[in-house]
Amino acid sequence: MANWTKPPIREIINEFHTNAQDGLTESQASAQLTAFGPNEFEEKKKESIWSKIWRQMRDVTTLILLIAAGVSMFLAFTEASGDFAEPIVIIAIIIINIVIGIRQESSAERSLEALKSMNTQTCIVIRGGVKQPIDARGLVPGDIIVLEAGDMISADARIIESSGLKTDESVLTGESTPVEKDENAQVKDNAQIGDRTNMVFSGCLVTNGRATAVVVATGMQTEMGKIAALLNDTKQQRTPLQLRLNKLGKNMSLIAIAAGIFVFLTGILLHGDSIMEMLLTGVSLAVAAVPETLPVIVTITLAFGVQQMVKKHAIIRRIPAVETLGSASVICSDKTGTLTQNQMTVKKLWMADGVPVDAQDEFSDEEMKLLRLFSLANNAVIEQTEDGEKIIGDPTESSIIRLLQDKGITTDDLEEKYPRVYELPFDSERKLMTTVNKMPDGRYVVITKGAFDTIPVDSFTDCDSAQAVHDEFARKALRVMAAAYKYYDKLPEDMSAAELECNLKFAGLIGMIDPPREESKIAVEEAKKAGIRTVMITGDHVVTASAIAREIGILGENDKAITGEDLDEMSQEYLIAHVQEYSVYARVSPEDKIRIVKAWQANGKVVAMTGDGVNDAPALKAADVGVAMGITGTDVAKNAADMVITDDNFATIVDAVSEGRRVYDNIKKTIYFLLSCNISEILIMIVAVALGWGAPVVAIQLLLINIVADGIPGFSLSREKADDDIMLRPPVSKKASIFANGLGLKIAVMSVIFTITALIGFYIGRFVPIGGMVPSYEAGQTMAFVILGYSSVVHIFNVRSTKSIFKIGFLSNKPLFISASLSFAIVTLFALIPPLATVFYLIPLSPLHWLIMILLSLVPLFGIEIYKAFKRFH
Ligand code: ADP
Ligand code: MG
Repeated sequence: MANWTKPPIREIINEFHTNAQDGLTESQASAQLTAFGPNEFEEKKKESIWSKIWRQMRDVTTLILLIAAGVSMFLAFTEASGDFAEPIVIIAIIIINIVIGIRQESSAERSLEALKSMNTQTCIVIRGGVKQPIDARGLVPGDIIVLEAGDMISADARIIESSGLKTDESVLTGESTPVEKDENAQVKDNAQIGDRTNMVFSGCLVTNGRATAVVVATGMQTEMGKIAALLNDTKQQRTPLQLRLNKLGKNMSLIAIAAGIFVFLTGILLHGDSIMEMLLTGVSLAVAAVPETLPVIVTITLAFGVQQMVKKHAIIRRIPAVETLGSASVICSDKTGTLTQNQMTVKKLWMADGVPVDAQDEFSDEEMKLLRLFSLANNAVIEQTEDGEKIIGDPTESSIIRLLQDKGITTDDLEEKYPRVYELPFDSERKLMTTVNKMPDGRYVVITKGAFDTIPVDSFTDCDSAQAVHDEFARKALRVMAAAYKYYDKLPEDMSAAELECNLKFAGLIGMIDPPREESKIAVEEAKKAGIRTVMITGDHVVTASAIAREIGILGENDKAITGEDLDEMSQEYLIAHVQEYSVYARVSPEDKIRIVKAWQANGKVVAMTGDGVNDAPALKAADVGVAMGITGTDVAKNAADMVITDDNFATIVDAVSEGRRVYDNIKKTIYFLLSCNISEILIMIVAVALGWGAPVVAIQLLLINIVADGIPGFSLSREKADDDIMLRPPVSKKASIFANGLGLKIAVMSVIFTITALIGFYIGRFVPIGGMVPSYEAGQTMAFVILGYSSVVHIFNVRSTKSIFKIGFLSNKPLFISASLSFAIVTLFALIPPLATVFYLIPLSPLHWLIMILLSLVPLFGIEIYKAFKRFH
């Protein structure tokens, strides 16, 4: 059947041998799964290895290296000595570079893949008569799915029954206003997707209402599947820091090229070196001085950070968020379920004109009637499954159903006696929900439940006492909800909120507790120490919210709480000027969240904002880091978010911030490490050539140092643990340069120290007769090479921490210690083993030379240690 809009729904249901109430049986479903395959889009073809290599070859660094190889090859052919070792080494280095580049790319790809599979979709399906959440990949044609506002639709389906359903189909049609959907809609024969209003489509979002529908197409058969090839949003995103580093890399290349030209010209003009030899030196200097490994290490550090965050229940949806999190200075958090446990328990019930009773007490008939009202205008269900009870639905509502069960009544009993005929779903803007139920006597009852201050009640017997009871409950940190009702003999034509929710009679109040999470208090404290302000945002009443905020430590002596109503009175200018005073926002609507985000941002803050509902999506987008709830969050919120927290726990956000800071720190450490080494390489060449001493290191020696002594240990910096004070310092400003806080100065000082020690070594080898050896150019180069190599291996221990390396211990980052030892061994072997040494123009030296080299290499370490000790005493 190609046209799913035309046939009557009954025919479609028969076609799939399914059942509108009970759905498919499990065995039918698994047969369908074998027949139709899993509900997923086929992955696009992977890029071939050759195209990857080709892409790497077009890289500027590779191109310059190829030129160097060409020049060197030319020299080998033209010169009498015919030394082919050098071009071969350069080509080997090109190959190694390409291999590293591809490996880095695929590791980044893998972590992206992993992220994708973590963002799997679930959907609610009815199978064998049981409503249950399943992995959307298991959905098959014939399944009966249940859709609610906020859900992402997982397959194409024909609507069986719906209420107020609207879906956002912009991914398919480009049309951003939600489309009204209805099982009775008349659809033209050749209607476009946007006009097939009795169907819903995979990949679209439910923005309003609810529905049940029968799945007609899954996977590649869906409308979305047909265009899946166009939907490649996996394009790698770069973080602001990565962009700045790219620019830094370019600037470094320019400096290196300028230095190369300088060395080339000075060599020829002042010292009469051979043109070809100096060309090779100049080109190689240009390559060698560029921190090629920097972007690789940054990507690896980010990817490792993402993996660590997953372990701490935070799934990053957009890589740049890792970095932004590190500089977060305000966290605006929902109360319910995030700061609190979302384990609602009804504590109190108050029937109008009665006295408040405890939930455990025996209820009078009237009180039972009130409880029934709360339970009818309610969508929570307790399913009896093999592994015990399973509650599906909102905790606020479930707490009521649980109490109802405790009193010996089930939802099935109620549904049978008072079948629901209509519903105005709960929405956090109105803070109300209304149902219309048929009564055994043929009349209809309208029940509205919701926030006490928004419930539209006309007939109050005693408004003041209701307010007094409400306040008494709220001060005990109880969430209070009211119920009201009225009867109809006949259903009205107009079933709008305006008609249904007027002239209601007030029935009573219910008070439920949602205790704060244990971790919240600790996390708020930790955030405070880290210079991060926590702000509570809730739809709850201001008294309830303040009571909880005080308990958690959000609402201090000098902080204020404000309601959405007062916020509406405020101009945005006023809010911007006073936003710092408010720690609690109560009874706010999702629109208010955007104003709060913007106000903080106008004060230069980096704002993380949590959200779960459909209407939260704009605020999540507006925030610097939008955080969606993994458990209670709607798919809409998750789609808009930068990060999803899988345990809905506030403490997880603070953990993620600390991880973000660690990542940022480690990137800075990498910059410190690599730039000190690279800049010193440039300085050494310039100074030595200017002094007429000749190049202290040749091209292939520089390349070897860059790869072995800088690259290998540098990778392990991504694994470096956080400094203990990472959450004791204020957040870094978004605008601060990477070189702020003394990093630039440290790099400058270290490069000068390296330059001096290496030049001293070069000078001794070249001009000073010691250890029974005649000084020579080769001896000087060997000394410069070994000192540069060693000191960079030693320097990695300097950059690991602002603390003394003797305090944090050489072994506290094992991978780093191993790779540093490896680099040390390689540098030593190259200098000592004759065949290798010859290729790299290195010669054997006396023990005295070695002693001098080792001492000179240790100068930077001790210099830094003295500086660190000095800092500690000041
Ligand atoms: P929060 O930000 O704390 O999650 P909500 O927007 O969910 O706040 O709820 C705001 C208010 O709406 C609550 O204080 C309660 O009075 C009312 N409310 C919450 N859930 C429901 C519901 N399912 N039905 C009716 N009213 C509700
Ligand atoms: Mg809520």
